[in-house]
Amino acid sequence: MTQTLDIVVVGAGMVGAALATGLGQAGLRVALVDRAPAPEADTRREPDLRVSALSVGSEQYLRRLGAWSGIEQQRLTPYRRLSVWDQTASPLSALGRTPPRTTFSAAELGASHLGHIVENRVTQYALWQTAAGQDSVTLIPEDAIVAMTEATDQVEVILESGKRLNCQLVVGADGGNSRVRELAGIGISRDQYQQQALVASVRYTGPVQDITWQAFYPSGPRAFLPLHGDGPESWASLVWYDDPAVLAELKALPEDQFLARVQQAFPADLPPLTALAGRASFAIARQHASQYVSGRVVLVGDAAHTINPLAGQGVNLGFQDVECLQGLMREARRAGDDLAAPHRLQSYQDQRRPANRRMMLTMDAFYYLFSNRLPPLHLARNLGLGLAQRLPFARNQVARYAMGLAPETPPGLAGLLSRLPRPGFIKSQKGS
Ligand SMILES: Cc1cc2nc3c(=O)[nH]c(=O)nc-3n(C[C@H](O)[C@H](O)[C@H](O)COP(=O)(O)OP(=O)(O)OC[C@H]3O[C@@H](n4cnc5c(N)ncnc54)[C@H](O)[C@@H]3O)c2cc1C
Repeated sequence: MTQTLDIVVVGAGMVGAALATGLGQAGLRVALVDRAPAPEADTRREPDLRVSALSVGSEQYLRRLGAWSGIEQQRLTPYRRLSVWDQTASPLSALGRTPPRTTFSAAELGASHLGHIVENRVTQYALWQTAAGQDSVTLIPEDAIVAMTEATDQVEVILESGKRLNCQLVVGADGGNSRVRELAGIGISRDQYQQQALVASVRYTGPVQDITWQAFYPSGPRAFLPLHGDGPESWASLVWYDDPAVLAELKALPEDQFLARVQQAFPADLPPLTALAGRASFAIARQHASQYVSGRVVLVGDAAHTINPLAGQGVNLGFQDVECLQGLMREARRAGDDLAAPHRLQSYQDQRRPANRRMMLTMDAFYYLFSNRLPPLHLARNLGLGLAQRLPFARNQVARYAMGLAPETPPGLAGLLSRLPRPGFIKSQKGS
């Protein structure tokens, strides 16, 4: 039997589930399809291995959707300070001086916090609940898109189960290996970074910290993201970027040896570690769809763009995509227009593609600047960090961009980006 809807959203990750909620609230009839089972409430004390730094901009969006309270009812950890420094050995270390460090602080911005670290399963569960709460949203878990046929005024989606869905618009929110993108014949450019990221959930002695930090080594950054408390101890997510061979060796170590290696390799700021709940490594790639729109198909989130997770911006950009798209769909419905009217979809692409590209280039600039052993670059980044610490105005502009509160790259940063060469990648590929 064929079901008729306004929009089919394929992929109910954090981005797709947010979009379905927003479209449902606008009165649109939506099907939200995911090949995974519906997420369940999780009461385990150990954190999910996958966590995201959600910006204040994302928090505001999720509050407007009504999903933030669902996150608060589970758990989240605010961070009020963010510190970045260069840990490369330098003439300064020989003099016993600590390398320059830039610390962004909520207090300096007159804000209560800079963002929150939230486990992905917490955000996804809260968003599934808000999507399920909309009368006009049909959730279809454990099913996947296999084919799509476009006609002049509609598109038919065929699912693995044999279900058929007719709609005006299909949204690909199905992640980096998007099947919707492939079925629509949209090409991508993909560059795989030389580094991979090892993520570990660890417990440490002491209260929950209100700081997230990232120390840059020539082999890649090492980062600390605070999570919830657990009695006299607390949880954190650690990220170690390095050569894949180094990470493979680390992953194979028994728990006690792994913790000892991390303790010794991370900066002294890392509190004493007591337990490991999980670890996994991820290949990191930069990927950008050549277009976000084709006929009656539109891409959002990682299906459209995957960026270096260095500054934790991926899902934050995805939320900006869907807020933009849901606004345009609301206008289209009000005007009685076809939801796939080319001028509206083009407007979405024109607003989101350049903004996402700017953030990708910013991440590349950091990757290049900090993964480099060249002495002039070493000096430049230390001077830059020292200067940033002494210039609160510039520092606050960067903080507002990272918090998702300022859409444009700060001018100084934009100038730097235009002058830096492209970083080294191990594999590059262009799709159809
Ligand atoms: C190590 C690491 C750390 C990160 N840290 C951060 C961070 O701190 N902050 C941040 O903002 N971002 C971070 N990111 C990026 C962030 O995780 C992603 O940008 C985000 O998860 C993308 O969400 P999405 O909903 O677009 O895609 P996904 O999360 O990939 O969801 C896609 C969904 O589509 C479904 N699906 C796939 N194919 C099909 C199909 N054929 N049919 C039906 N359903 C399908 C999948 O089951 C899945 O549920 C990090 C990424 C990595 C790798």
